Amino acid sequence: MAVTFLKPDKIITTENGLTIKQKIIPDSLLAPKDVASWIKKGQKMKPCAKLNNGTGKPKAVTVHNTGDIKVASGTNAAEQYTRATYNGNMSGVVVHYYVWDTEIWQNLREDERGWHAADGSTRRSSQRKDGSTLGGNLDTIAIECIGDRKLSEDTTAKLVAWLCKKHGLDPKTDVYTHQYFYARKQCPQYILPHWITFLATVQKYYNAITGKAITPKTETAGRTYTVKHGDTLWQIAQTLLGKGSRYTEIVKLNGLKSNVLMSGQVLQIPEK
Ligand SMILES: [Zn+2]
Repeated sequence: MAVTFLKPDKIITTENGLTIKQKIIPDSLLAPKDVASWIKKGQKMKPCAKLNNGTGKPKAVTVHNTGDIKVASGTNAAEQYTRATYNGNMSGVVVHYYVWDTEIWQNLREDERGWHAADGSTRRSSQRKDGSTLGGNLDTIAIECIGDRKLSEDTTAKLVAWLCKKHGLDPKTDVYTHQYFYARKQCPQYILPHWITFLATVQKYYNAITGKAITPKTETAGRTYTVKHGDTLWQIAQTLLGKGSRYTEIVKLNGLKSNVLMSGQVLQIPEK
């Protein structure tokens, strides 16, 4: 029997060049069988509830990895995972986005909750320093990056950057691993070993669409320096002006009002 692939309801292109195939699970879709303990036959296939206490405003993005799969010719894994979700073959996992290479399929609106973080309806402390709390399921947009593939990961980073811009989220504090919400789960398993690098890539794409970075130079040519994640003024002074140097000249030259640096910020460096 010929396999019937899903047709997206709508295809959109983002400002940073991604193509998103939308196939949003309708509120009215009911489970064709027992899918999970929380989706019995005849029950709704998604939470049908809005993020962030009903406001629909996402507070963060959660990144997952899922295994690559073999698919029939003429389709790709992102479409097939979407189809499996519709057919009740994903054990109750429902996410906003599946990403495979440059293919992106969207299954949930960005203002609604999914089931993906294994944290039920709980919240825990967030990465923000403001004391706010966060639930993976309750408050975040979920992306499943399919396979241990460079291109899937790169597309995921671009998608995260675009979502951050769109929803006013900060790539430094508002991007999470699945593991953050459920410590026993090694997810995103392929990205976790280089999570910091992944975040730097997200930041790079975010800077590119928000115009925050001027020229992403990394070193001192022309006596400018682009701040990297974790840099301090003191370290920069030691490296670029010599051991024992003070950073007051850098502060003065750049008119800095505080010692807090932003990743991607370009500093003028005084002559030695
Ligand atoms: Zn996960």
